[in-house]
Amino acid sequence: RKFIFVTGGVMSGLGKGITAASTGRLLSNAGFDVTAVKIDPYLNVDAGTMNPYQHGEVYVLKDGGEVDLDLGNYERFLGVDMTSDHNVTTGKTYQHVIQKERAGDYLGKTVQIIPHVTDDIKRRVREAAEGSDVCIIEVGGTVGDIEGMPFLESLRQFAHEEDDDDILFTHVTLVPYSKNGEQKTKPTQHSVKELRSIGLQPDIVVGRSPDKLDPETKDKIALFCDVPTEAVFSNPDVEDIYHVPLMVEEEGLDEYVMERLNLDGEALPRADR
Ligand code: ADP
Repeated sequence: RKFIFVTGGVMSGLGKGITAASTGRLLSNAGFDVTAVKIDPYLNVDAGTMNPYQHGEVYVLKDGGEVDLDLGNYERFLGVDMTSDHNVTTGKTYQHVIQKERAGDYLGKTVQIIPHVTDDIKRRVREAAEGSDVCIIEVGGTVGDIEGMPFLESLRQFAHEEDDDDILFTHVTLVPYSKNGEQKTKPTQHSVKELRSIGLQPDIVVGRSPDKLDPETKDKIALFCDVPTEAVFSNPDVEDIYHVPLMVEEEGLDEYVMERLNLDGEALPRADR
């Protein structure tokens, strides 16, 4: 089984969820069974108690689970039904670990974030991925948030435990323009530096920008973030988010992901997708 982790840098609301869902859609077009997990690093157990004015619409799943709207994007983009197990929150994880502690399941051990909380996070991701060829895991929030730390540490452990060609890290970041119309890569460099400081190296960098990334911008991101230029992709502003899969396909995101994950041999020929 393959796992694609999607993190976000610089700021939230960038389009991380749409990028993750688009990657999933392209892999599903190529003939793979794709599922998704949304990680929400907040202490609420689920989105059911959250103010829709602040948080946006609560999305209700077939099993009655009240979750983040991103799960709605995944269901629509991937054409699959999900359950509340596909939404992992800090609240759910801590509640479970503390219940186990009260029941004496840890046999007197000191219960800690590492390994008890991180083990629970990894278990949830692996269980949600069961039955799929590829599982896309989006980590909500931005790299560097205190709330996200146990999740990012779990990702680091995940990469350590799985084979290299079973894991892929995509980092979605902002590429703003300066007043004189230049695409600026500094925010990207900083967010990748932050990611590396916790032991995570992205395999793919996706730059959200009003327009496509210039070749020089891609080269610069590649150099500073230590990825090949072919692993830097654009995700420019579009009027309709359902065009994002086609746009990233044009730049070859699907081919690159499949090659890195050794899936290319099993993919449907392009004409049949
Ligand atoms: P994040 O997961 O980073 O918080 P989302 O994927 O939920 O971000 O997207 C945030 C908002 O930006 C959504 O309203 C989404 O429709 C919009 N959006 C995402 N990608 C694009 C794009 N390429 N062009 C225009 N709007 C986009």
